[in-house]
Amino acid sequence: MHLWSRELWRVAWLATLGVIVGWLFDAPGIGLAAGLAVCLYYHLRQLRALYRWLTLTPNQEPPAAAGLWGDLLDRLYRYQKSQRITQNRLRATLSRIQESSEAMRDSVVMLDRHGDLEWWNSAATDMLGLQAAHDRGQHITNLVRDPAFVRYFASLSYGEPLTITSPIDERRILECQITLYGDDERLLMARDITRLHRLEQMRRDFVANVSHELRTPLTVLSGYLETYSDLAETLPPRLGRSITQMQAQTRRMQNLVNDLLLLSRLETDQGGKDHMPLALAPLLESICQDARALSAQQHEAPQQIELEIESDARLLASEQELRSAISNLMFNAVRYAPPESRITLRFVDLEEGGACIEVEDNGEGIDPVHIPRLTERFYRVDKGRSTATGGTGLGLAIVKHVLLRHDAKLQIDSHPGLGARFRCVFPVSKIAPVLTAR
Ligand code: ADP
Repeated sequence: MHLWSRELWRVAWLATLGVIVGWLFDAPGIGLAAGLAVCLYYHLRQLRALYRWLTLTPNQEPPAAAGLWGDLLDRLYRYQKSQRITQNRLRATLSRIQESSEAMRDSVVMLDRHGDLEWWNSAATDMLGLQAAHDRGQHITNLVRDPAFVRYFASLSYGEPLTITSPIDERRILECQITLYGDDERLLMARDITRLHRLEQMRRDFVANVSHELRTPLTVLSGYLETYSDLAETLPPRLGRSITQMQAQTRRMQNLVNDLLLLSRLETDQGGKDHMPLALAPLLESICQDARALSAQQHEAPQQIELEIESDARLLASEQELRSAISNLMFNAVRYAPPESRITLRFVDLEEGGACIEVEDNGEGIDPVHIPRLTERFYRVDKGRSTATGGTGLGLAIVKHVLLRHDAKLQIDSHPGLGARFRCVFPVSKIAPVLTAR
C-alpha cells in the first residue's frame, strides 16, 4: 500500500509540475498533458521491460526497477522460482514412481476415464503385448479381447480379481485386478500366476486320480464285507462286531471318495452348460423326503421337517448339482440339530430381485468365529461329533462350489443356542424368464 500511494504521489507531483510550468507559459492544459505523458512513458518502458523479460529470458534475474515496478518484478521472480522448485520436485517424484513401477514384475497399466491406455510398464508389454509405439490412446479391450475381461472391465465391480490367459501367449495365466481412482480413471494390475495355476492343477489331478483309484478296491472290500456280514451268525461274536465296524468305516471311505470326486469335477468342469429352467417344488419336496428318512434313521424322536415354497420362480440351474448342494445343507441340519427340533426348507423371492433357497434349523447353532471358515475342506467345528454323525467334512465346500457355478452366494447366519440358517442367494440373472401364452 505504501508503494502504491508513492506511485500516486508521483503522478500527482508530475501533473502539478506540468500545470505550473504550463501556467508560466500561459498554457496550463498543455503542461498537465506533458506531465501525464512523462508518467505514461515511464510506465510503458517498465511494461516493455517486464514483457521482454517474461518472453525472452524468464529464467534470468528480472530487470532492475524502482518503486512499485521493482516490487512487482521481485514478487514475480520469487513466485516463478518457487514454482520451478515444486515442478522439479514433482518431476523427480513422478520419475521415481515410474522407475519403481518399471522395476515391478507385475504389469501396471494406467487407463483414463474412457478406458484408453495412458501409461504402462515394460512388464505389461511382456504380459499383455502393449506396444509403446502405437498402442497409446487405444481402448484396453481392443488389445485384451478375452470376453471374460471385456465383461469384467464393463462391470465396474472389481471386488475380486479375474483370471485370464495372456493375449500374446496362451500358456501364460494372468490374474488381473482393476482399481478405480481419481476421476473414474482405472489402474490395471496383472500378475503372472502360471506356476501357481499349474501347481493347483496338479493338486486337483492328484486328488481326482487318487480318489478314482481308491474306488475299485473299496468296492471289492465292501462287497466281501457284505458277504461276511450275511454270515455273521456263524462267526464268533468278536469277529462279527469287527465286520460291522469295518463295514461302517468302508462306507465312510466310499462317501469321502465320492465327495472328493464330486468336488474335483465341480472345480475342473466349466459350469453352466447344463443349466436349464428348473421348477423347484418337486426337487425340494424329494429332498425333504430324503431328509425325513435320514432323520428317522438318526434320531429316536423325529425332527419336524417342513417345506415352504413362497416363490414360483424357475431357476436356471443344474438339477443334479442343486440337489447335491441342498441335500448337503438339509442333511447337515438333520445331523447337527437335536431330536424334536424344527428344520425348514424355504424357497422365497428376494425384494432386491433374485431368489433364495434357505435351510433353517433351531438346533445348537454355530459360534460366529467358525463361520468364515466353514466352507473350507475338512473344517469342522467339533471333529468328534462330525465324524460320529457320518460327515465327510466336504459338504459345505461342495455347496460353495455348486453355488459359485450358479453365480450364487452362500450366506450363513448362526449363533450358539439359536440355530442356524444357510441361505443360497441366486441373482436375477439366474431366474428363468416367465413364458406368457400368446
Ligand atoms: P461335515 O461333513 O463335517 O458335516 P460340512 O462341510 O458339511 O462337513 O460342515 C462343516 C461343519 O459345519 C460341520 O462339521 C458342523 O460343525 C458345522 N455345521 C454344518 N451345518 C450345521 C448346522 N445345521 N448346525 C450346526 N452346525 C453345522
